[in-house]
Amino acid sequence: MRIGIPRALLYYQYYPMWKTFFEELGASVQVSSPTTRTTLAMGSERLVAETCLPVKVFCGHVLQLAGQVDRVFVPAVRSLEPKVLSCSKFLGLPDLVRAVLPEAPSLLDPEIDLDRRSSEDKDWLPPTSSEISLRVRWTFYQTIYRVGSHFTRDPRRVKEAAGRAWQAHQDYLFLMQTGLTPPEAIAWWEGDGDSPREEDEHVLALIGHPYNLYDAYITHNLVTKLRELGVSIVTSEMISPEELRQGILDLTGQPYWTYEDEVVGAAGHYLRDERVDGLIAVGSFGCGPDSTLLDVVRRAAREARRPFMNLVIDEHTGEAGLITRLEAFVDMITLRKRRQRR
Ligand code: SF4
Repeated sequence: MRIGIPRALLYYQYYPMWKTFFEELGASVQVSSPTTRTTLAMGSERLVAETCLPVKVFCGHVLQLAGQVDRVFVPAVRSLEPKVLSCSKFLGLPDLVRAVLPEAPSLLDPEIDLDRRSSEDKDWLPPTSSEISLRVRWTFYQTIYRVGSHFTRDPRRVKEAAGRAWQAHQDYLFLMQTGLTPPEAIAWWEGDGDSPREEDEHVLALIGHPYNLYDAYITHNLVTKLRELGVSIVTSEMISPEELRQGILDLTGQPYWTYEDEVVGAAGHYLRDERVDGLIAVGSFGCGPDSTLLDVVRRAAREARRPFMNLVIDEHTGEAGLITRLEAFVDMITLRKRRQRR
């Protein structure tokens, strides 16, 4: 079976794991090509204008795969831990794709909902931590076997594939914690990585979801442009889950949204990190959760008197305007550091 993986949304978090799992089960995996103007236009014209940019991009990538694969992998990630939910776009992603892209290949669309029992059970009591881990593990295994059953009836093969996929994910996380961005870590993981970079003059924390930060087309090569301006970047992928959790505790007390650690957790951590000269947050127009979360980050940065810039991107964001803002921010950091040295 040929499985298509759209190079959008959760691709940046889980691609090595998904690819390993499907290939171990005998499937061939095809990833859509990097985003272009055409990809975005194809997705945008099927959706109402208010839809967030990453979902428009995702739909364009699904269309890219039409005619090339047997099924496209579009999971519905509802929750990855009890009482913490994904945004509505993730919850209904397969339904949305089926509704607006009738010509899309058939979907492989597992539902991943590790909060299921707590939301369905009216007499639900907060579980103890050992109950949480048992229940979460059980739900997780059920999901894996359901997906695996599309490829084999042998549960041992599914188990082995899942074990290798998990190892691939751990390797990928390790690569990112050495300071690589997700696209760089994927290149390394596929045996095609560049040499490590030298330290730059400034260090800035990039705050936002990976699908916003690392899609070179929609951000006009933000990461490369910052490096050309003499900036080393640090991101949520480069710190540990414990540090992200502490960052959330510092800023909001507890997580409410799945993937909140990429925004609030990373910001909470880097606001305390003296190596970091400032924070750049990237959100997308039409994103409900980020409009709240990035405001929390903005206020925290102001209280901590740390330089902060918020970029909101949509399909009309111009490259020239973005470069001007980046250059101005980096100039301001340079002046600030000079003043502090005097
Ligand atoms: S979190 Fe925001 S940007 Fe991401 S899918 Fe949901 S609405 Fe879109």
